[in-house]
Amino acid sequence: MTKTQKYSRRRLASLITRSIFITISVLTVIVLLQNYQVNQQVVAQEAARSKLQTSSLVQQIFNYRLQSLEIQQDSYSRNLSLTSALMSLNASDIDAFFNGVDQVSPAVTPDFRFIIDDEELLWEDANAQFYGIEPQALLEIGHNMSMGTNWHVEEVSSMMGPRYLLLRRTPVIDLDSGEVLGYIHIGLVLNSNFSLVSSLLKGANVDHILLAAKSNIIAATTKTDDFRHLKWLDEYASVLKNHEYMVSRTDLTINGNPTFLSVYTIQNNAHIVTMMRSHYMWVIIALVCILLIALFSRHWLGQRVSKELLRLTKYTTVAAEKQKDSEFCGSSIEEFHQIGESFQTAFQRLKEQEKLFVDLFNYSLSPITLWDNKGKLIEMNPAAERSFKTGNLDDNGFSILVEKLIPQIHMCAHGATITGVTIPIGETTYRWNLSPIIIDNEIRNIIAQGQDVTSFIEAQRQSALAREEAEESARVRADFLAKMSHELRTPLNGILGISQLLRDKMVDPNTKEHIDILCHSGEHLLAVLNDILDFSKIEQGKFQIQCADFNLTELVTTVDKIYRPLCDEKSVALDVVSKLDDPFIVFSDQVRINQILFNLVSNAVKFTSKGQVRVVIECIEEPDGNDATLHIAVKDSGIGIDYSRQETIFEPFVQAESTTTREYGGSGLGLAIVKSLVDLMNGHISLQSRPGHGATFDVLIPVEVKPDKQTSNSYNLVSEPALMFDDELQVLLVEDNHTNAFIAKAFCEKYGMKVHWVQDGYNAIDFLKRDTHIDLILMDNQLPQLGGIETTKIIREDLGLSVPIYACTADGMQDTKRAFLAVGADYVLVKPIKEVALNQAFVHYKHTFLSSENRAH
Ligand code: ADP
Repeated sequence: MTKTQKYSRRRLASLITRSIFITISVLTVIVLLQNYQVNQQVVAQEAARSKLQTSSLVQQIFNYRLQSLEIQQDSYSRNLSLTSALMSLNASDIDAFFNGVDQVSPAVTPDFRFIIDDEELLWEDANAQFYGIEPQALLEIGHNMSMGTNWHVEEVSSMMGPRYLLLRRTPVIDLDSGEVLGYIHIGLVLNSNFSLVSSLLKGANVDHILLAAKSNIIAATTKTDDFRHLKWLDEYASVLKNHEYMVSRTDLTINGNPTFLSVYTIQNNAHIVTMMRSHYMWVIIALVCILLIALFSRHWLGQRVSKELLRLTKYTTVAAEKQKDSEFCGSSIEEFHQIGESFQTAFQRLKEQEKLFVDLFNYSLSPITLWDNKGKLIEMNPAAERSFKTGNLDDNGFSILVEKLIPQIHMCAHGATITGVTIPIGETTYRWNLSPIIIDNEIRNIIAQGQDVTSFIEAQRQSALAREEAEESARVRADFLAKMSHELRTPLNGILGISQLLRDKMVDPNTKEHIDILCHSGEHLLAVLNDILDFSKIEQGKFQIQCADFNLTELVTTVDKIYRPLCDEKSVALDVVSKLDDPFIVFSDQVRINQILFNLVSNAVKFTSKGQVRVVIECIEEPDGNDATLHIAVKDSGIGIDYSRQETIFEPFVQAESTTTREYGGSGLGLAIVKSLVDLMNGHISLQSRPGHGATFDVLIPVEVKPDKQTSNSYNLVSEPALMFDDELQVLLVEDNHTNAFIAKAFCEKYGMKVHWVQDGYNAIDFLKRDTHIDLILMDNQLPQLGGIETTKIIREDLGLSVPIYACTADGMQDTKRAFLAVGADYVLVKPIKEVALNQAFVHYKHTFLSSENRAH
């Protein structure tokens, strides 16, 4: 399910209308509820207050009426006319008296009056009979009343049914004698007492008044039957709601004492109810209006917004489907207008990019193909069409391409980006780069771009061929050098070996001197040969630095020993200054440091005819750790080097003057080798020279100082008697060269050994198979037919012999040495074999194989 499908869509207008409607409705309901609640509270409070006021008013009016009667009664009870009339029991005088009173204040006239004493009715105004109360009953009523002047409420039966009376009595006293002449009673008949209820009506300002005694309505200002139901009245009086009638009930008290009399007031409330109704009606009208406004807004927004939105949508649809080159025609709503313009800019950019892409696709000279993620070709550009479908290739060129590209396309469909897929089709080779096109996090297409790399591949092939050829020629050169080294060293070995043997035998000083010259010439030739070989190795990158611990002080001593005689000979002062302790052990390549120093000193001595050669050797140690820098300075007062040559002097075959070779000899390789060695050891060499005043070479080489260790690598020849073996050693010499064989044999015999000589590997194997006892095998490397290394391997593996094998190799290469040791050789000597080297080898043999526990068999 896509994101858009998740939601049910609504029109914007209806959403806006709905939100407006909901907001207004919620607000209205809140206002209405609050209004209603306030109304109810106010109405209830007002109703309660109004009822309370009415009650209190009714009670006050009632009290007032009684009080008026009381005052009048009390006033005439002491009247002389009345007392005299009573004493004389003159009824007509009494009548006349009360008529006079009533005429004065008709408003406070009671309904009836009578006067009694303890035994009989003295007088009555005959009004009681009018209300159906017999005179006999009056006497009873009078006697029943308790003492005091309080009002009494009485229910008496009469001919007209029960009568409710309000009675009060006052004694009439003879003022002279103080005797009670009788009791004058006044009475109010409450039944149908219109005067009372209408005075209450007037005072309380209500619509109707009803007077109830016990559970009967006994007087009322209205004749309407609807109101004359106590149940209805009580019900209405108890609620505080807003009804058509507001009824209040007042339970009358007399002097604070409750009575069974109640007064109901009725007030017509219709206008308030009508007002409330009209209020609610307006609320409903307001709601309807809101509804209508919402509907109208919906319609209006629908018209206004939807129309604009529709126009915008239409524009985007048209522009997206590229139906025509559409331009946004604007909108009357600002936001929509801006959106439309942004769309227009975006579409224009998209179109430009699309055009760019299409141009790139169409005009690209490289073939470009577009595939779907299932591996189906969708489109190819004209360059691809030209390359794979027309003329250039045979018909199946395209099918070969598809077949080769499909696996890569499937990989791309899983997200891989693949580069450098080389596909040869016919005589042309294409290199393809493939990458997935990701839209909405989904790989929709794969684009594959090819490049004709035929000429590049051909160039690569040619360069590989050239490299192979160069490597082959380098190999041939290396072989040649190795062979030359063998070829040159072998005769030189002969010359030097024989010279040394001869010199030992010579007695005549002249002849000895000649042989010495022979030795020196040989040594010099060997040095030149070594220089050439070293330089060739450096050039081939085969030169290796081999570090070990050695005593630097011995180097100083050796320089002094070697060059002092030469300097003395030339009357040149040699000043060798060492700033080192003795011993001073460092970890570095002793041979190469020797080579550097000896080269520089030999040049200094060579090119100085007067003055001095000064050699300074010091070690500048770092404050912390064992790292240090070896500083060698070789200064002379010789011919110096021309400024123009100083820059190139370290290049091979360069000499300061062309006459140098003639005058001083040399190959021009020494300084080049020195520079290469210094570079290999991560050091630095510099030259300072003033032509005619000498030259100074400064060399700085980083070394590791070993403070505690003492070692000495100097080797003194172990004398022959000391090296003599207990038994005559049986030595098998495997050597094809006669001279070398002769020299080696001579040296071995010097130490009392018996030498068996064979000329190649097969002969050696045959010899060993014959079970002849042999203590040591001296094995040459370059033998005819079967080489020294192969022969050693057969001796160890096939023959299973553990007899010590000491190999001799002429090329001095580390690889050869390692190969010999790997197949089981015990020691490797480098040719030309000098006595000192052979002496060392024999010492090694004696220590390793002839000590008591290692005795060889
Ligand atoms: P060479 O075998 O010719 O001595 P080098 O490489 O050792 O080769 O020296 C190259 C040239 O540099 C020499 O031929 C010489 O002209 C010049 N040279 C080297 N050392 C000195 C020196 N101490 N004084 C003057 N010239 C020197």
